[in-house]
Amino acid sequence: MKKIFTVLSLFLAVFAVSTAVYGSETDVRIGLERNFKNVSQITVNDSAIRVGIGDRNKYRANIGVYVIKPVGNTYYDTGEYKTTFEQAEALLSKYTGTSCIPALTESGWTVYVRADSAKLDKPVVKTGVNCVGFAVDGRYRFIVNGSEPCRIMAEDGIVNMGSSLYRGDIEFYRQGSVMTAVNVLPVDSYLYGVVTSEMPSSWSLEALKAQAVAARTYAEKNRGRHGEYNLCDTVHCQAYYGVQNESESGIRAVNETSGKEIYYNDELTDAVYFSSDGGATFNSEEVWSSSTPYLKAVKDTHEKEYREWTRTFTYSELTNICAANGYGIGNVVSVSADYTDEGLVSSLTFKGSKGNKTIYKDEIRSAFHSSGEGNLLSRNFRIIGGAHTEGDKVYVIGGDGQNTKDYTGISATNGEGKQGKIGNKFVIMNDTDSETIVASVTTIGTPGTITFEGKGYGHGVGMSQYGAKAMAEEGYNYEDILKYYYKDVEIK
Ligand SMILES: [Zn+2]
Repeated sequence: MKKIFTVLSLFLAVFAVSTAVYGSETDVRIGLERNFKNVSQITVNDSAIRVGIGDRNKYRANIGVYVIKPVGNTYYDTGEYKTTFEQAEALLSKYTGTSCIPALTESGWTVYVRADSAKLDKPVVKTGVNCVGFAVDGRYRFIVNGSEPCRIMAEDGIVNMGSSLYRGDIEFYRQGSVMTAVNVLPVDSYLYGVVTSEMPSSWSLEALKAQAVAARTYAEKNRGRHGEYNLCDTVHCQAYYGVQNESESGIRAVNETSGKEIYYNDELTDAVYFSSDGGATFNSEEVWSSSTPYLKAVKDTHEKEYREWTRTFTYSELTNICAANGYGIGNVVSVSADYTDEGLVSSLTFKGSKGNKTIYKDEIRSAFHSSGEGNLLSRNFRIIGGAHTEGDKVYVIGGDGQNTKDYTGISATNGEGKQGKIGNKFVIMNDTDSETIVASVTTIGTPGTITFEGKGYGHGVGMSQYGAKAMAEEGYNYEDILKYYYKDVEIK
């Protein structure tokens, strides 16, 4: 039998109960999914922490390195409740010869005795739900067993979890034999770690302030996004890297906008944002299901820097992509796009040997998920056939004789998807007359492939971060920036 009380290490000392209550209604709960989702153990390296249950009293503990793990044993509760760890620990000698351990419960400190010991006339406790153990050097020093998850905070305000540092509290949300760490902290402390995870700290202060207000609004609006916590720490919600990604300018942007949020008709907005638009944003209903009055297409005259991207597909790759999505159109023979007034792709049509498939909205990007490079980065792209010619600008006139589109390069594909060299002579109508244009023979691209040439990065709704950068550099303030990308809103 283990005599746990005899191995108390010198660097472990748990002091008197503290009545400090940390947390308030404005706290936000962030699931640390990147590094601590459904893990079997979590290491905390802090010289002084407080430990408690949910938002209750926290008990001081001076610790070295702790490993926290789910505990699922059956115990007898000795029922000898104490107010300090030391008092509970002193009781262990009464149970010498049995397997026993100090336990922090909602009623204070007690001693649990393993149920495989001699039968005691005491209540049986099963620790399968929230109970976690704190182990030092591979040996449990105490367990925490309550109706809510165990929670810790560091006395210096920052919990050190290996290479990750977090302000506020860490809660260990247990599901069977695994746990997920949840960071519970005031909204602005969370935003310190978001602003420069989402936007470089070197960018102008007004851009960082726009980002802070958009991120604060997004966080408040999306508190119900996950079950046991409000938001996760990945780009699914907002990128959050804790203290490592804080910066002086990011903290200043949060502090100088503290409490500011974006409202439309006195209601909190869904302040979505993305990296860069390459020249225009979408109406929300062109990307997602519903129309939102403040998420309207903007022809962006500010954004100057944006990501340029190129994706080239063979026809067999396109066939595989369509098959992976279950489109059932056989071999792809061509791809074509329609465009919004702002020049963004509004629909994409695959023509196949067994039928056609037209896709809309964000499926235009996500349809490519099964390909090597995954989803398309944006819907701001044009399609270039494989081998094609570059020459004089040509105009294609619609069947109604009215709508014209101009192209700087054209290509031809026959019904079987074969790329043929376009004849060196073809008739083209220009704006005013019909005339014969001799095709240039400058061939670019690879025969048998389709290339998408794109600009921008992201879903394209709401604020462009690179656009915010450009506006801030032009001298606009954060309110100007937000009101440019979110229509008819108030910042308050
Ligand atoms: Zn999320």
